[in-house]
Amino acid sequence: RARKRFGQNFLHDQHVIGRIVQAIAPKASDVLVEIGPGLGALTEPVAEAAGKLVVVELDRDLAERLRQHPTLADKLTVYQADAMKFDFAALLQPGQKLKIFGNLPYNISTPLLFHLFEFADHINNMHFMLQKEVVQRMTASHGSKTFGRLSVMTQYYCQAIPVVEVGPGAFTPAPKVDSAVVRLLPYPIAERAKVDPAVLNRVCLEAFNQRRKTLRNGFSNFATAEQIIALGIDPTIRPEQLPVSGFIKVAQWLAEQEIHDE
Ligand code: SAM
Repeated sequence: RARKRFGQNFLHDQHVIGRIVQAIAPKASDVLVEIGPGLGALTEPVAEAAGKLVVVELDRDLAERLRQHPTLADKLTVYQADAMKFDFAALLQPGQKLKIFGNLPYNISTPLLFHLFEFADHINNMHFMLQKEVVQRMTASHGSKTFGRLSVMTQYYCQAIPVVEVGPGAFTPAPKVDSAVVRLLPYPIAERAKVDPAVLNRVCLEAFNQRRKTLRNGFSNFATAEQIIALGIDPTIRPEQLPVSGFIKVAQWLAEQEIHDE
């Protein structure tokens, strides 16, 4: 029986499973990690193509079931653990990168994504089934109503590409919301803006705290309208109108101010 508190909605639609496996394109040389394998809907076809696979499953019974699985057990390394606290870098040898995927528990998707972003330098790509609205926020451009902190932080770390939308009927039990798969390609560290992600996150929290506020009001805790203008940013616009590069510029400036203040 599915455990609600673990966000368990098991995928059974073979067409959707095929689309996801096709997007992952698993190879024997990949270091593959699945978050929340559950009953193994994605685990089986991926392990078949890749030969081996690491899985991180919180549910003790499901983890044990996978350890005893008649056909999968030999191919899996099972960690019964909370993916939000899991050290993904510990799975790697020098020079290797991870391919991470999963049909994520929707109740923890945002904090789990933020945890995963901390390992961006160790990740080749990620494919996740999420609530459709979350994928829309991750992939939104500035100017869109759904553009917010998750869009800025996702797009700072990764190129985010929607893959396929999935209705509730593809799962047992059927969730109350629509779902979608997103493909995330972390940028190489050399191509990423030099900014402290914690400061960038703080700038986003301030800006999007009240969406109807202008940037002048949103940033009033740390910048004057003149200082915002000096960064080449119009203080009369709303936060969802400022591109990711603008948020990065503000965070870089703020970090510099704080160094001078010390
Ligand atoms: N992959 C399976 C499928 O597609 O049918 C199951 C997907 S279900 C939406 C989410 C899975 O994540 C469940 O198996 C659940 O037990 C597991 N899970 C929930 N919270 C977790 C966490 N913090 N860390 C690891 N796994 C978790």
